[in-house]
Amino acid sequence: MHGTMQDWPLLVWKLIDHAALYHGDREVVALTCEGEEVRSNWRTIHGRARQVAAALRTLGVQPGERVATLAWNTHRHVESWYGISGMGAVAHTINPRLFDDQIVYIANHAEDRVLFFDLTFVPMIERLAPRLTTIEHFVLLTDRAHMPETALNLLCYEELIAAESAGDPWTVLDEFAPAGLCYTSGTTGNPKGVQYSHRSNVLHAMAAAMTDTFRMSAQTSVFPVVPMYHANAWSIPYVAALTGAKLVMAGPNFDAPTIQRMIVKEGVDLALAVPTVWLGLLQHIEKHGGGLGRLDRTAIGGSAVPRALIEQFADLHGVTVLQLWGMTEMSPLGTVGTPCSTVAALPLDRQIDYRTKQGRATFGVEMKIVGDDGLELPRDGRAFGRLLVRGPWIVGSYFKGDGGQVTDAEGWFDTGDVATLDPGGYMQIVDRSKDVIKSGGEWISSIDLENAAVGAPGVAEAAVIGVPHPKWDERPLLLVRAKDGASVTKESVLAHLDGKIAKWWLPDDVLVVADLPHTATGKLLKTALREQYKDYRLPTA
Ligand code: ADP
Repeated sequence: MHGTMQDWPLLVWKLIDHAALYHGDREVVALTCEGEEVRSNWRTIHGRARQVAAALRTLGVQPGERVATLAWNTHRHVESWYGISGMGAVAHTINPRLFDDQIVYIANHAEDRVLFFDLTFVPMIERLAPRLTTIEHFVLLTDRAHMPETALNLLCYEELIAAESAGDPWTVLDEFAPAGLCYTSGTTGNPKGVQYSHRSNVLHAMAAAMTDTFRMSAQTSVFPVVPMYHANAWSIPYVAALTGAKLVMAGPNFDAPTIQRMIVKEGVDLALAVPTVWLGLLQHIEKHGGGLGRLDRTAIGGSAVPRALIEQFADLHGVTVLQLWGMTEMSPLGTVGTPCSTVAALPLDRQIDYRTKQGRATFGVEMKIVGDDGLELPRDGRAFGRLLVRGPWIVGSYFKGDGGQVTDAEGWFDTGDVATLDPGGYMQIVDRSKDVIKSGGEWISSIDLENAAVGAPGVAEAAVIGVPHPKWDERPLLLVRAKDGASVTKESVLAHLDGKIAKWWLPDDVLVVADLPHTATGKLLKTALREQYKDYRLPTA
């Protein structure tokens, strides 16, 4: 027996229908690769998304087929997203920072039929097109005036959609139908595809909008610096439509001056990005001055947020940091560091202790930690184990069944993270299970060490890896990159760490390096560091 309420499928185009009807004048602002600033609104974006849907039908794309995007955060990318999934196809966001071979693998594996791409990527597509075996139509996201001289057979986005009517209806689908596809970064092995459904995206957007998540409303001016190809820009293009928020996007620009300018000029009150972006912005402000306008909160995730970053935002700019934890497999939201009522009543310094944790689960995400025997561990803030999750926007299997069964018999997915859970529900990541340092049978958290090291004077970024040690198996090696012009030494960093962490956690060596390697989503590339330093002889060895 069912309840007797209506069957109203949760489809992502319903989000933008709502935005167009009730928040039609609310602005969507974007900087583009053509160097323009485009000021649009939800009504216009909605109409143009309908034209994209119609154009894809004209090109012969069928519901369920994949249409890829290789694009920055712009109005055209948002229109394409809604247009693709609105006609029933699957919007496959490709991360342009991947290596050529990975991009070729991903596009062919997804069997993408059409590719929408930005001007920036013309040279890349000229190089890769012969290897992209399934793509029939290459659509350049620009107007006729900016079409380049190229041997490629290109369609011009503005012309393609101008030929279509905005009056064609969306495609009505089962809410479990696929809407989006995103491949995990795949630091080892081939990337695997996570295929979001309409239902999972809508439910995720509703949870993300909530007061204790992003606190988004029709009055919010939101600036996702995190790119749409990185776990759906943490779902902001969906949440902004759902709430009628103003959406601000910086296209190909990730530099601190542009980010600061957009925040101030567009009255941004919520901005979202990975830690390195914010470290760069605060350094820029330290040097050149200026403020952050109406900015009220920053959502930061993808890697652990150093305490120094949280304090600097609070002290200098009155900005609250919301730490997020999640992953591509979780659409991406798992936890948010919004305080519960007990923590909110604590003095600021104690509150920040909690904000350095990854946060509490939003409704819709179940979590538990288990030991090596698979048995659940206590939620006491001390025991740590593998973090398992389940919920309606968490992966059930990878695209095409890659990797086989990824959930256990009870539906739990292993995140690959090692964490603690405290009695208040705050989760804290100890480490990626692959990155934890095993010293004399005990564990050292590379994340904790890195966070402490980033607080040392002059340090811009820190990475800790375990290197082989004859007595202890592994000991920590700390690599730091100094801020421009700062003088940082092994001694100055060790002096800073002394007393802040357990003595036996102190790194056995500290190297000041010119640069640290990153993954395509801005995380430290520990696999490369471990490879580079695998024969490194520690002074204690
Ligand atoms: P991405 O697309 O960001 O590379 P992944 O899904 O590969 O996303 O990465 C997810 C992983 O990033 C998590 O499993 C976790 O290890 C790490 N991560 C994300 N947010 C945080 C955070 N706030 N603190 C620590 N680690 C984080």
